[in-house]
This record gives sequence, C-alpha cells and structure tokens, in this order.
Amino acid sequence: GPGDPELLTLKAARTLREADVILCDDLVDPRVLEHASSSARVLYVGKRGGCPSTDQRFIHRVMIREAKNGMKVVRLKGGDPFVFGRGGEEADALRQAGLQVEVVSGLTAGLAGPASIGLPTTDRRHTPGVALVTGHAKDGSDGKNTGPNWTALAQSGLTLVIYMGVARAEHIVQALIEGGLSHHTPAAIISAAHTPQQRQAVCVLSSLVNTIAEQGLVSPALLVIGDVVRVAPMWAAQEDALQERLAVRL
Ligand code: SAH
Repeated sequence: GPGDPELLTLKAARTLREADVILCDDLVDPRVLEHASSSARVLYVGKRGGCPSTDQRFIHRVMIREAKNGMKVVRLKGGDPFVFGRGGEEADALRQAGLQVEVVSGLTAGLAGPASIGLPTTDRRHTPGVALVTGHAKDGSDGKNTGPNWTALAQSGLTLVIYMGVARAEHIVQALIEGGLSHHTPAAIISAAHTPQQRQAVCVLSSLVNTIAEQGLVSPALLVIGDVVRVAPMWAAQEDALQERLAVRL
C-alpha cells in the first residue's frame, strides 16, 4: 500500500511474516517491516528519480540467487506491485529463471492518494473512468519518445492520474492544453499521500506548475486532472479564490 502501514493487505502482512529475505523499495514506510520475522534479512534497493539507483539486474540476480538457495524472497514495493514500479519486469525475470512467483496486490497510490482528500477518481457524475499514466516519459531504444499520447488523453474525458509527473509538469500541462483540455480544468496535486508528510493543493490546469512551485509540493506526488477534482471538499472551499486568480491571470 501507499504510505500508511494500515493500508497493507492481510495477505501482504502474512507474506512478510513468512519471508527469509526482503528486498525493500524506498517508498515503503519502515513500520511495514514490523510484520517481518526478526530473522529475515532486509536489503534496501530503492531507486528514486534522480538518485543513484540500485541496478535492476542486481535486484534480479539477488532474488534469483536467494530463491534458488531455498529462501522465500519478498520483493516489497510501495502501492500495488503491478502499477508502475517494474513489478511486471521483475516477475518475468524470476519466471524465466524457473522460479515460482506470487503477486500480492496492493492499494495503488493513484487511487488511494486522491481518496485521501475525498476525491473519487471515477465519480460517474463527472467522468466515465480514470487513466493511470506515467509522467516520466521513457526514451525508447530507437530514441523515440514512448510517453503517453497527451492529445488522446486530453480528449478522452477520463480523469487523469499521473504518476511521476512533478518534474515534467510543465511539459504535461502544455501538451494537455495543446491537446484540447481547457485551462480551467480542475487539478490536484497530492504529495506523500497517507504519510505524516502528506500535502495537497487544488488549482486549475493552467496554474498547476506555479502551484507546485509556490507550495513546494515534492515527489512522490500524484497529479490528478479532470472535473472530478470538484468533488474534493477542498475544491469547494477554494473555488472562489481559484476563479478570481484565474480571472486576474487571463
Ligand atoms: N507501485 C506504486 C507506484 C510506483 S511509481 C503504486 O502503485 O502506488 C512511483 C510514483 O508513485 C511516485 O513518483 C508517485 O507519483 C506515486 N506515489 C507513490 N507513493 C505515493 C504517495 N504516498 N503519495 C503520492 N504519490 C505516490
């Protein structure tokens, strides 16, 4: 789960208790490890954007070596292991090495983060659904940009929940507006959801970048863009101020 250790599933807690070796990401609250056996070996293999990261091949190698030595290995990740965060690639590598893999689903930050400010991402009064996308465009091996098609997303009518989007917010906002989304589209930024450091703000699309800077909202954070942001109680509380600010800027 994201942040708060109480958002861990019972199955995750049981799996942690049974683990001999735990490879832990840095988005995991240390209190989660209280579920681990005192004899379990814990390796920290976090890879935060911009920081020196543990080589992915090293992570695969360690998991494979330990499992082949008969150890029960847990790969502990924040949120849901199959929502970004390379869970799929890691499971593939393990299966290719002939190992058994069980995926323990978790609560993804992209849904639980917005919920923490009363923002229901698929509220049917505003949207037919939600798209979970990465804001961190990956360069393809041929040098092509394999990031999301922002124009298609702008025209989709879906709530956009953007992971890893803070550093590229300026590009994302520009691409969405060029793609047809209104400057006035409601937006929210939720940083460190479900942790004691949680901070959040609502704004309109055209002031998203300024809001992030002014309020010092940092990664890990989610950008939520779409009419559904109006449902969050903090939107109603600030709507007049937001409209006024928009009128002055335009
Ligand atoms: N597997 C994770 C996502 C990993 S990608 C999940 O399902 O939640 C890492 C990105 O997730 C971060 O850059 C941020 O956009 C988001 N994220 C993870 N934890 C978060 C949290 N507590 N608050 C806000 N965003 C979070």
